[in-house]
Amino acid sequence: MLQSYDEQRNFPAVEGTSFLSAAIKFGAIGVRTLWQTSAAAMADTRSDEARQNIQTWQQELAWREFYQHALHFFPDLAQGPYREQWKRFPWENNEVHFQAWCEGQTGYPIVDAAMRQLNETGWMHNRCRMIVASFLTKDLIIDWRWGEKYFMQKLVDGDLAANNGGWQWSASSGMDPKPLRIFNPYTQAQKFDPDGEYIRQWVPELGSVDTGALLSGQFEPHSRRDYPGAIVIHKVQQQRFKTLYASVKLG
Ligand SMILES: Cc1cc2nc3c(=O)[nH]c(=O)nc-3n(C[C@H](O)[C@H](O)[C@H](O)COP(=O)(O)OP(=O)(O)OC[C@H]3O[C@@H](n4cnc5c(N)ncnc54)[C@H](O)[C@@H]3O)c2cc1C
Repeated sequence: MLQSYDEQRNFPAVEGTSFLSAAIKFGAIGVRTLWQTSAAAMADTRSDEARQNIQTWQQELAWREFYQHALHFFPDLAQGPYREQWKRFPWENNEVHFQAWCEGQTGYPIVDAAMRQLNETGWMHNRCRMIVASFLTKDLIIDWRWGEKYFMQKLVDGDLAANNGGWQWSASSGMDPKPLRIFNPYTQAQKFDPDGEYIRQWVPELGSVDTGALLSGQFEPHSRRDYPGAIVIHKVQQQRFKTLYASVKLG
């Protein structure tokens, strides 16, 4: 896994990550042990490419440490946004939309696949955590704390610091220096699930839809069987979100 981590870690249909998060969270294995093991692997390899892969994995461990330290030094993060301006943001908090997101019934295949993976297994791929978190906050305009809480109820690796850090990063209210980040769920699916394999695994109703349509969401109504239509339109919501963002003068 370590030797190919950089190339494979973003593809949810591939088992390209360590799946160690629950073991780390519950102390079954320590981060120092993992760091030393990866450092030994680094010392043993002569390939620059393999070293790069190992280094990327170590950087993920560093993200974990960063969020642990952030929560330790800024305990208010557990209650709300790091960036003050976000306290004024007018979240719309539509409960019907929230329920559809929780159940994997939004009509956005990559979002629904990920939420169903979470509901069925208690785990979700990191790329998909970012996609569904962006969708909840930027497309549905729902307070990230609703998603944070739902994740804590479902994740086997649920960890206050990592989860809060991931949600605030996705909502743009955290320590990420980029002021506003909006993921396009279709582009994300095209890049990171290019054959639609992950979507088909978790959204079997779409099993016979052709890949191009599956990834663009442009499928014929008759081909989607019981699968719902999109509950919001990404382009419209993106614009609405930007207008709200500008109205509260977030910097
Ligand atoms: C919205 C959101 C919520 C998240 N909630 C949690 C959570 O509750 N618990 C949790 O452990 N991780 C969380 N993450 C981070 C990340 O998704 C998981 O750690 C990772 O998917 C676990 O899979 P893995 O063990 O195969 O990771 P690998 O890719 O193999 O990474 C190795 C280890 O590094 C740490 N790590 C990797 N990525 C991150 C990251 N972005 N932030 C912090 N630590 C990281 C984890 O301990 C992980 O086990 C969240 C990310 C987002 C975007």
